[in-house]
Amino acid sequence: MLTPNSKFLKIDQNLLLKTYLVSKKQKMKPFKNSKLALYSTLAKFKRPKSYLGKIMLVAFLGTHIPLLTLFFYSISVTTLTIDTKIHVLIVALIATLVGTALTLIILQKLLFPITLTAKGLRQYLENNQIPQLPTQFKDEVGILMADTLYTISKLDELIEQLKNYDRLTSLPNRQLFESKLKEEIDKAQKNQSSLAVLILDLDGFTNINNNLGKESGDLVLRTVAQQLTNYVGNTELLSRINADEFAILYPNLTSLEKLNNYSERILNTLAQKMLVNNEDIYLSATIGITIYDQEKVEPQEIMNQGEIALNLAKEQGRNTYRFYSTEMNEKLRRRFELERDLYRALEREELQLFYQPQVDIETGKFTGAEALLRWQHHQHGFISPALFIPIAESSDLIISISKWVLETACKQNQIWTGAGFPELCVAVNLSAKQFQQPNLINEVSEILTITNLKPSQLELEITEGLLINDVQKAITTLEGLHKLGLVTALDDFGTGFSSLSYLKRFSIDYLKIDQSFVRGIPHDADDVAITRSIIALAHSLQMGIIAEGVETIEQANYLKDNGCHKLQGYYFSRPICSQDFTELWEKNLEE
Ligand code: C2E
Ligand code: CA
Ligand code: CA
Repeated sequence: MLTPNSKFLKIDQNLLLKTYLVSKKQKMKPFKNSKLALYSTLAKFKRPKSYLGKIMLVAFLGTHIPLLTLFFYSISVTTLTIDTKIHVLIVALIATLVGTALTLIILQKLLFPITLTAKGLRQYLENNQIPQLPTQFKDEVGILMADTLYTISKLDELIEQLKNYDRLTSLPNRQLFESKLKEEIDKAQKNQSSLAVLILDLDGFTNINNNLGKESGDLVLRTVAQQLTNYVGNTELLSRINADEFAILYPNLTSLEKLNNYSERILNTLAQKMLVNNEDIYLSATIGITIYDQEKVEPQEIMNQGEIALNLAKEQGRNTYRFYSTEMNEKLRRRFELERDLYRALEREELQLFYQPQVDIETGKFTGAEALLRWQHHQHGFISPALFIPIAESSDLIISISKWVLETACKQNQIWTGAGFPELCVAVNLSAKQFQQPNLINEVSEILTITNLKPSQLELEITEGLLINDVQKAITTLEGLHKLGLVTALDDFGTGFSSLSYLKRFSIDYLKIDQSFVRGIPHDADDVAITRSIIALAHSLQMGIIAEGVETIEQANYLKDNGCHKLQGYYFSRPICSQDFTELWEKNLEE
């Protein structure tokens, strides 16, 4: 295996520098310059240890020369009295001490740029930290500081280049690729998007190396790197991760079809005749692909999956591509297809709202209707909202779909009221993204105005999960909706894990007992106990209570006897289209 850049892969920057400096030191002869004589003499003295200290000492001695001269002169002169000599010497001593102190302080300050530069260099050598040095001064010391900073920055860039880029092709190496992959995984996790990694291996590269020599091998690799660079777009990242292995990071994967085309085009680009050293070479490649889809995973693991897929592809014949797991491939393919079709579903008018009556427990009359989304797919027939709502949730599609649902439900309700039916409350399910939209309240209010529906005729159903994420925001949103005059209901109650103490802080009108508890009534002791405590809780918080999933008369009677307010379920009607609902309602009114 050829690994031209491998020795740089894991070398740490410090080591690299030290090795460089040590090797330089060994090769260099002792440096001689006559102007360095004084410096080299001073350097021989052990004390003071620092260069700064030595200069200080010289300055100290220098400033004392006049004092000493005066001292000896006054001893040798006999015409002056002893008193005068002492006075003159005391004045000279004080002047010398003050002068020396000032000189030392100023000298130290003037030498500071040199100390700073030396410290900065050391800091870089020891901690790889680029020092902070001024660049605005133009004298020799100023230039020394600016040049040091410039040199260190350039050196740092060079080391970065050596550490992260492949020398042969100048492409990012594996180390850089994996660190970018980690960043992209985090991004994808945050944005709930997907990404793919393609590991590409040249078929029969060892033969080229063996038959034509390493130099021709290098030439082939450089040519392939160039071809791939021309092909790969700005958003993808191409890297050479091994001798004849390249990797491509493909972020924001939105369609499997696109990825298939992309991989095929790469194979076509590479599967061409190449002239190397007057020899025709027929090149081809094999690709292993893995897709990251929201599970928590380390970059290393993704790379391994790509390698597994690559080996699988090689076993199945070269010049081809394979996904990490065909099972996952299929699942994702279906998901992406649905997502693609869902984009067109609104335009194609494949979405429809069904309505399921909510019945007043005392009068048996319809007082509400839950609007439930239906998708009549042009190929696959009816698709359950439980399947496509989460897909819509993972993209921004949910926003336009939710808006359509709200508008349609409000419009329909206004049609019923306009046709002379008693006022009914239409219940619309809110998705997580919709609930978190900052302009939710304005949007709802706008729709009410457009459709001319009374706010009290619209109920919004939210699930517990939406409240726990950001309690304070949920409280504000619910209060805003309440101020508009809307009705609010907490859906699937009992299945989440919300703290009951929070419940009283939310403006909620109805608790909806989840159908999983209603199912076991009246025989299952646990379901009975849970249902009764939910009803008791709703009563104590002065909330209304709706039971969903009522399928039998026993369930209906039990819920009635235990203080439930409204019932909904197959016992009264399945969700039905608006026309059927109108007919059923007419019958309900006649009863
Ligand atoms: P959900 O809000 O809990 O809706 C109740 C589900 O129970 C509906 O399923 C309904 O058809 C079903 N159901 C009603 N009565 C009975 C019964 O007596 N027995 C049984 N076994 N099931 C009954 P559906 O229509 O398939 O909806 C599934 C989920 O999809 C809904 O659960 C809701 O979370 C979501 N969904 C439906 N429409 C929308 C929508 O417009 N927007 C959003 N964001 N989510 C929606
Ligand atoms: Ca619901
Ligand atoms: Ca429900």
